[in-house]
Amino acid sequence: MMMMMMASSAATTTITSSRISSLSARKSNPIAFFPSRRAAGATNNNNNNSDGRRGQLQVVSEGTGRFIVGGNWKCNGTRESVKALVETLNKNVPNIEKNCDIYCCPTFLHLPYVKENLDERFNVCAQNSWVEADLVDPEHHYDSTTGAFTGEISAEMLEDLEVPFVLLGHSERRTLLGDTDEIVGKKVAHARYHGLSVVVCVGETLEERENGTTFDVIFKQLKAVAKEIDDREHSSWGSSVVIAYEPIWAIGTGKVATPEQVQEVHSKIRNWLAENVSEDVAKATRIQYGGSVNATNCADLAKLSDIDGFLVGGASLNGDDFAAICNASSVHYKAVGR
Ligand code: PEP
Repeated sequence: MMMMMMASSAATTTITSSRISSLSARKSNPIAFFPSRRAAGATNNNNNNSDGRRGQLQVVSEGTGRFIVGGNWKCNGTRESVKALVETLNKNVPNIEKNCDIYCCPTFLHLPYVKENLDERFNVCAQNSWVEADLVDPEHHYDSTTGAFTGEISAEMLEDLEVPFVLLGHSERRTLLGDTDEIVGKKVAHARYHGLSVVVCVGETLEERENGTTFDVIFKQLKAVAKEIDDREHSSWGSSVVIAYEPIWAIGTGKVATPEQVQEVHSKIRNWLAENVSEDVAKATRIQYGGSVNATNCADLAKLSDIDGFLVGGASLNGDDFAAICNASSVHYKAVGR
């Protein structure tokens, strides 16, 4: 089986001239890679709908992007369990609404198999990519990351394998593996330079929430990313940079943040983007919530105007539950009047 996975991976890495031109087209127009709902002419700011929740929650902004749901498989899976999960997800494709973007993050080891075998309704997403922490690059490319770096995977390799998404700055990488805000910013710039869409995770610990520094922490994490993305052609925001707000105290704990807590943080992130990047970017950036989302609690959260999707850990390992969470997209569009 492993031999088959290796063989299929080798087949996908052959570089053809048409692939090279499609990659350079993607680099020069990264937003077109995953067209946003906004680009497709969707409307926004229907502040007069009848969703009672919105009145209570002081909506100050809302996004315009397509709903997006990600499954973070973390360091889980055997060949057998990954095969079974892929089969269950594929079986669910006819039941999944067409109105959302979906990505799944297997381990690097399982990525080629998943890319080959998972229905193309689901995008594949890497769980990390590497940059050299000390590298200083005024051009914001950080583009010397292949070579003598044992055990690492670079954005170049993900590009070569045609992996369209990468998850960066997950709290487990920040707290357990030393990813600082600055490194996450560099990783984002490097991945964008290679045409990848990125999902950047931000979020506070319980201690930070309790001592009132939630927004200081999140804005500092965002600032480190904004510093590296300077809206040159290779590094624009829009639908290609997704932010996942994941309070650390809610990840894997079964303790989901309340809709009020999530809405407050998401609308402040959007305001921060409006003030520090641009109004257009603030509207087009998708902000996902992550932290103990499951098939039961997703609908209540999806009703909020500033929740543009979910990043799901534990529940994404169950293909039926993950499909149900993806379908919260319809609850969201109905609630916000789109
Ligand atoms: C995550 O790790 O990104 C996550 C949200 O995990 P869980 O859904 O298990 O809380």
